[in-house]
Amino acid sequence: MKLSTNVIFDTSLGKHIPEEVSHVTETLEKGGFEAYLVGGCTRDLLLGRKPKDWDVTTDATPEQIIALFPKTFYENVYGTVGVVNEKTEDETLKVIEVTPYRLEAGYSDHRRPDSVTFSTKLEDDLKRRDFTINAIALGLKREQEVTKHQETITQGSKSLVAKVSQETLVDPYKGQKDLKDKVIRTVGAPQDRFEEDALRIIRAIRLSAELSFTINAETAKAIEEKSPLLAKISKERIRDEFTRILMSDTPMTALAVAQKLGVLKYIVPELEQGIGIEQNKAHAYTVWEHLLRSCQHAVDKKWPLDIRLTALFHDISKPETRRWSNESAQWTFYGHDVVGARVTAKILENLRFPKKMSEKIVKLVRWHMFFSDTENITLSAVRRIITNVGTENIWDLMNVRVCDRVGTGRPKEQPYRLRKYHAMIDEALRDPISVGMLKIDGTTLIKDLGMNPGPKIGHTLHALLEEVLEEPKKNTLVYLKTRATELANLGDEELKKIGEAGKRKKAMEEEKELAEIQKKHWVK
Ligand code: ATP
Ligand code: MG
Repeated sequence: MKLSTNVIFDTSLGKHIPEEVSHVTETLEKGGFEAYLVGGCTRDLLLGRKPKDWDVTTDATPEQIIALFPKTFYENVYGTVGVVNEKTEDETLKVIEVTPYRLEAGYSDHRRPDSVTFSTKLEDDLKRRDFTINAIALGLKREQEVTKHQETITQGSKSLVAKVSQETLVDPYKGQKDLKDKVIRTVGAPQDRFEEDALRIIRAIRLSAELSFTINAETAKAIEEKSPLLAKISKERIRDEFTRILMSDTPMTALAVAQKLGVLKYIVPELEQGIGIEQNKAHAYTVWEHLLRSCQHAVDKKWPLDIRLTALFHDISKPETRRWSNESAQWTFYGHDVVGARVTAKILENLRFPKKMSEKIVKLVRWHMFFSDTENITLSAVRRIITNVGTENIWDLMNVRVCDRVGTGRPKEQPYRLRKYHAMIDEALRDPISVGMLKIDGTTLIKDLGMNPGPKIGHTLHALLEEVLEEPKKNTLVYLKTRATELANLGDEELKKIGEAGKRKKAMEEEKELAEIQKKHWVK
């Protein structure tokens, strides 16, 4: 094959390449080998984006690479040698991966090559890569050579031309044109390439989301045809690509494309059930579109992955809980939060998301249906919401509500209402108004003070709460333990009375607080 090589005589790309990286290519070249930057880093440099990592490809064998650098590690994963740079703080430069030119053959499991052999030809290595925009190699010529070269051309002074570096782009599949046209296209016949490794199907969608590129028509057709092969890909790899789609700027478009091309059902099939499911008047969109829009809002707000996932899944079970109510002449979705939490847990487990993240998302889905009309809500209702979802998650729940609201196509929450609600949460978080906020709990009463489990525990806690309401400073473990011991000596009836009084007092306090908060935050 003839390589289309063009030589650029400027430093436009070179100046973005860190010394740590050019040191690696120079060392290889001084050792008598070829060395090129390849894959994502060359693509990103050409796009003017900051590369996430730096990959070098070379005609040297792993042993020859190892011999050239003081510190490397080699785990024999397809011949890749990690060149370690201990001096840098930059995470992306600590290890630079150097991989020999590779030839791959046979993909009987649609996942990975049956055999990998090393090659001495760059074109072999570019041929095995997934997309044209990822199959461009960038060679950096050493300055001495350039200087010599430039001297013969310009006969200029050495100091002037010494700064000039020369870059060579090797681009046999016209990747630069596809970069310009913003197109994802496979290297070679797309059907064959997706047959070999079906993960490339999701990589195509992920890259199109990250770069805001479109997928070439022929490549898209092959995706549609070969998507069933995704069933063979490990859930972890699918999860990683799905995560990157959600962390891109445009998951709404990407997921819609994934759906259209038959890929979504191999990521989150449950989402497809929302397609065409109409809702009530308050909703301008079907369930599917509402979820996409909610998720997109989390992205537009730059909120983290867990919020993006919650926004995407919060109404996942609306389709199966939808019932027509003759009485109100509209759809109802009773229990979609409860069922949705269960379904979300299953989805996240299936995709092997970390347990802790999954638990939080499930909680947010479970409790996303809270009543937030500040004119009619009591402080104790706000406290209940906080208790359900956990103090650590309450602000995230508020953000989910914002996504939900924006995702309906309705105007944004009126700021004064939101501010008022936030003020109520602030207030509820501040003082110990429920026994749950006491520095002592039932377990401590039983374990440390030897009390017996039973109603007396509750009465004691409410009695303690009354005192703390009176004087918040008393909310210390030491004081409450002492006081609980004293209370334990009282008769059951007497204790119960104090406990009940505590409960009443709590309700009154709440009303009082609510009145105060309303005074403070009333923004009408
Ligand atoms: P980023 O670094 O932004 O994730 P990337 O394109 O570098 O993007 P990597 O997963 O780091 O992605 O892969 C590096 C390069 O290896 C790719 O650019 C591509 O050339 C090649 N590559 C990766 N995965 C595959 C695959 N499944 N099939 C063929 N080539 C692949
Ligand atoms: Mg990369």
